[in-house]
Amino acid sequence: VCPTAALTEVNHTDKVWEALSDPDKHVVVQVAPAIRVAIGELFGMEPGTIVTGKLATALKNMGFDAVFDTDFAADLTIMEEASELIHRIEHGGKLPILTSCCPAWVKFIEHQFPELLDVPSTCKSPHIMLGVIAKTYYAEKIGIDPDKIVVVSVMPCIAKKAEAARPELTKDYHNNVDIVVTTREFAAMLKEAGIDFKNLPDSDFDNPLGESTGASVIFGTTGGVIEAAVRTAYEWMTGEELKDVELHQLRGMEGIREGTVKIKEMDIKIGIAHGLGNARKLLEDIRDGKSHYHAIEIMACPGGCIGGGGQPYHHGNEEIVRKRQQAIYNEDRNKALRKSHENPEILKLYKEYLGEPYGEKAHDLLHTHYEARERI
Ligand code: SF4
Repeated sequence: VCPTAALTEVNHTDKVWEALSDPDKHVVVQVAPAIRVAIGELFGMEPGTIVTGKLATALKNMGFDAVFDTDFAADLTIMEEASELIHRIEHGGKLPILTSCCPAWVKFIEHQFPELLDVPSTCKSPHIMLGVIAKTYYAEKIGIDPDKIVVVSVMPCIAKKAEAARPELTKDYHNNVDIVVTTREFAAMLKEAGIDFKNLPDSDFDNPLGESTGASVIFGTTGGVIEAAVRTAYEWMTGEELKDVELHQLRGMEGIREGTVKIKEMDIKIGIAHGLGNARKLLEDIRDGKSHYHAIEIMACPGGCIGGGGQPYHHGNEEIVRKRQQAIYNEDRNKALRKSHENPEILKLYKEYLGEPYGEKAHDLLHTHYEARERI
C-alpha cells in the first residue's frame, strides 16, 4: 500500500461473497499461474511450496460452481500469440512483437510511448481470455445464460483489477471478468471461511477450462511467456519436434536479458525485460530504430508475476522470488505435456468453437486494441 496514502488497494472480497451467496448466479473462478507457488507462504509454508491441488480443493470448498485454471487460458494465449508472431514474420508485419499479458506494462506504453501502439501483440491477457470463453463456449456447453455467469479471477496482480474494468474489455461478452481479487485477498477469504489450507487434500481443476501444459505454468515468471511462445512457434514453423523445451538462455533474473533461437534458417532474436525502468530502455531502442529483436517479453514487476503486487509481501527479498521461480520451473517439468499446442482441451476448443488460431472468430473474441493516453 502506498506510504503517502496517494493510492489505496481496493478490496473486492465482499463482491465475491455476495456472488457466491446469490442462488441465481453461476460463479466460476480461475487462478493465475504465479499463485500456486506463493500463497502457501501466507499459511506458514516455505516460499516455493507448490499448492496447485490444495488451491483447487479450497475453491471447491468455498462453493464456486466451477473451478478453472488461468493456465488453460495461458495455453490459449500462446496459440494466438505464436500465430501472430509467425504471421508478422512471414508477412512483413511490425517487429518486434511485444507480449501483452501484463496490464501494468500495457498502460505504461499507452501513456509513455503512444507512437508504438502497433508493436504489442493484440492478444488479450490470459484471465480476460478465460472470462470470454467462460461466457461464450462454456455457457453454450452447459446451456446457461451468460448473464448469470460471474467470473472471478484470483490474481497475483493489482493492475488486473483496472484491466478488467477497461471499457473495451467490458463492453462485449457480458463483461469478460467481473471480479478480481489478489493472492492476499484470497488468502484472507480462506481464513475468514475457516479453511485449513495447509492440510487440504489435492484435487484437480474442472474441465473444460482446467487442463494445462507446462508452457502455461511458466507464464508466472519473467521470460516464461516468450519461452512458451517459442516452444510452439518453433514446432509450427519447422514442422519438427522441439526436443529440449527448456530454453535456459531466456531464463534468469537479470533485468534485461536476450537470447537467439534458430528456427529454420532464421535467427529469432528475443529480448526480455522485467521492471518498467528496464522496459523503458527496450522501448526507447524500438522508437529510435535501434532494436534488433523479433520478439520481446515485458513484465512490470521484478521477477514477473511471481513478484506481483498482489502476492504475499517479500519485502525485496530476492531469495523468496527465486524460490517461487524455481517452483514454477519444477511444476513445468512435472507436467505430462509442456507445449501449449498439445493441450487437448485447447485443440477441442478450436475444433468445436473457435476455428483456426488467429482466425476471424478467435480474433473477435481473443484480441483487443490499445489507445494513446495522456503522458503522465
Ligand atoms: Fe501484474 Fe506484475 Fe504480473 Fe504485470 S508482472 S501482470 S503487473 S503481477
